[in-house]
Amino acid sequence: MIVDSHAHLNHEDLLPEAEAILERAAAVGVEAVVVAGYDVPSSERAVELAQRFPNVAAAVGLHPYEAGRAGEAEIAAIADLARERGVGAIGEIGLDYHGDEYAPKELQMELASRQMAIAHEAGLPVVLHLRETGLDIIPLLDAYPDARAVFHCFDGGAALLTEAIARGAFISFAGNLTYRRNEGLRLLASRVPRERLLVETDSPYLAPQAHRGRRNEPAYVLETLATLADCQGVAAADLALQTGRNACEVFRPLRPEF
Ligand SMILES: [Zn+2]
Repeated sequence: MIVDSHAHLNHEDLLPEAEAILERAAAVGVEAVVVAGYDVPSSERAVELAQRFPNVAAAVGLHPYEAGRAGEAEIAAIADLARERGVGAIGEIGLDYHGDEYAPKELQMELASRQMAIAHEAGLPVVLHLRETGLDIIPLLDAYPDARAVFHCFDGGAALLTEAIARGAFISFAGNLTYRRNEGLRLLASRVPRERLLVETDSPYLAPQAHRGRRNEPAYVLETLATLADCQGVAAADLALQTGRNACEVFRPLRPEF
């Protein structure tokens, strides 16, 4: 079973066609999708999709872009959504220091920390969005030693990868793994233990090389899977099986079919 571990079918570019998109994915063997929220409405839409389609699991959470905007009401809404059927994770949450239009680091850290607490209480893993944030997430992970973390769209350096793996995290690679200039990322991908690997599209963003610049969708995760299999020196079919198993282990609402 191939799983797209992170897609935004809840995004307005994909939502109206969600059913057709899932059918196109299934036609090429992508049998399950994790839909990630980024604010309260998109998290609600993720839950609706998970409850409508048995092969969809939802992640609910407030993206670091929401830091400084989201208050107690939004945090409480995520805690409520965490108890809904079909929810398999809290996310995407995290830190993003790219550009200067985002909230101060302290506010981002506070929002991430509050949601780590929700995940802890609900017994759910966290899906982390991290961009240009060095090792800043590590103390937060260490505050929750039993947290299961997914590093979504991994694009950090070797030091972050080492720390993440040491903490039992799962490492999810997206379409940027296939970009010609990303030799360094492919080298890092070759070092991740197979039982910790996930693949994702992050659609509608980050279409893999063959579709670059166009709208991405879960069916295209095959290209990232093939590149990752090359990095690991294994057959794509074997890696499909392994990453599918890994996804079912992290995101419990997905039904394993092995
Ligand atoms: Zn995302």
